[in-house]
Amino acid sequence: MPRKDLTDAAAIIAGGGSGLRMGGDLPKQFLSLGGTAILALTVQRFLDTAFFTTVVVVVPAAHRQAAATLLREHLPADAQARLLLINGGATRQESVRAGLMALPPGTETVLVHDAARPLVSSKIIEKCLRAAEQSGAAITAIPVRDTLKEADADYLIQKTVDRDGLWQAQTPQGCKVELLRRAYDLADRDNFLGTDEASLLEHAGIPVVIVEGSEHNFKITRPDDLALAEGLTRKRQIMKIGHGFDAHRLVPGRPLILGGEHIPCELGLDGHSDADVLIHAFIDALLGAMGEGDIGRHFPDSDPRYKGISSLLLLAEVVGLLAQKNLGLGNADITVVCQRPRLAPHLNAMRANLVLTCGVEATAINIKATTTEQMGYTGRGEGIAAHAVVLLQPLPA
Ligand code: MG
Repeated sequence: MPRKDLTDAAAIIAGGGSGLRMGGDLPKQFLSLGGTAILALTVQRFLDTAFFTTVVVVVPAAHRQAAATLLREHLPADAQARLLLINGGATRQESVRAGLMALPPGTETVLVHDAARPLVSSKIIEKCLRAAEQSGAAITAIPVRDTLKEADADYLIQKTVDRDGLWQAQTPQGCKVELLRRAYDLADRDNFLGTDEASLLEHAGIPVVIVEGSEHNFKITRPDDLALAEGLTRKRQIMKIGHGFDAHRLVPGRPLILGGEHIPCELGLDGHSDADVLIHAFIDALLGAMGEGDIGRHFPDSDPRYKGISSLLLLAEVVGLLAQKNLGLGNADITVVCQRPRLAPHLNAMRANLVLTCGVEATAINIKATTTEQMGYTGRGEGIAAHAVVLLQPLPA
C-alpha cells in the first residue's frame, strides 16, 4: 500500500530502447541477471518499495508479449495489479512521454527510471521521491570522481576540465507530473531532444535538485557491466531455509510407503496420495523455503489426479519449480518419527530415491528415523510423523 505521508506517486520504467550493444538479438533489459530478466528485477525494486500506486513499464512494441510473460512469471500476482505495460516510441523521450500519458488521473509525482539499472536501492528511490515532492523536481546523480580530459579527434588532450560541481546523472529522476508534462510540451514545441528528463526540465527553466545516487546504480550497457552486476547481485542473494512437518494415521489395508520405498508392514499410512509422510514433510520444507505455501495448495487432496499418486512424482514437480526459480537444494535433513516397523534397513534406499529425484549428491540429503519411546500417537503406533529442514541456494548464473 502507498505510504500515507507521500502524495500519489507512480513510476515509469523506461525500457523502450532496443539497443543491441550487448550482442545477441534481445535488447539489454531482457537479458538475464542471475537467472531473472533485468527488466523484471528493476520493476520489482519499485514494486517492493510500496511507494507507487502504479508502475508503468514501457517496452518496445515488438517485445511487449515477451515482457508481459516474464513479468507475470517473476512478480507476485498482487504486485501485478499495480503494473501497466505499454509500447514505447522511437526515442527515450517518446517512450517516457507515452508513459506520462498512461498515468492514472490524480497521480501527483512520478519517478522515471531506466529499465537497465536493476541495482537501484530502495533508499535511493525514496530519497529521490521525497526530494521531488519537496522541490518539484529531483534527479539522482553521483559526483564525478575522475579527472576529466577534453581531447580532439586525434586523442590529443586539449585541456583538463575542472570537475568541481560536475555530476554524472543517473535515474531515478522524479518530478511533479504537472511540471514534467509542461516540460514535455515545451520540448515538443521547440523540437528539443534531451537524453534525460532533467534536460527537458532545464530547457523549460524548471529548477532541478540533485540527490546523491550510488556507483552501484549503473546502467547495464556493455557485457562488462553485466558481469559486474552479476557479481554484485550474487552477494545480495541469500540462502533460503524451509521447515516441513507432516503426520499420517496408520490403518489396515494400505501399503506403507516411506521415502518412495514399499516397506513390509501389516499397516499402511492413510491418505489421498500414497500418504508418504516423509516426502510430504520434505516437499513442505522445499515449498516453505521458496515462499510457495504448502503441499495442499499445490496438490489439493480434492483433485482426483493425485489419488494414490506416488509422492516421488509430486516431489519431482516441486524440484521443477525450484529450477524455475533458479534455486538448488543445498541440503536437507529429514527425521521420521515411527515406533514400528524398524526403518533402519530402508533408510539408504529412501535416500537414494530422493537423491535421484532431486538430482543432488548423496550427502545433500540425510534421513534419520527415531521412535518416541512409546510416548504419544507415534509411540502408540497410531501414526507416523516426519520433520524436514532444507536449505536452498541460488544456482550459479
Ligand atoms: Mg501429508
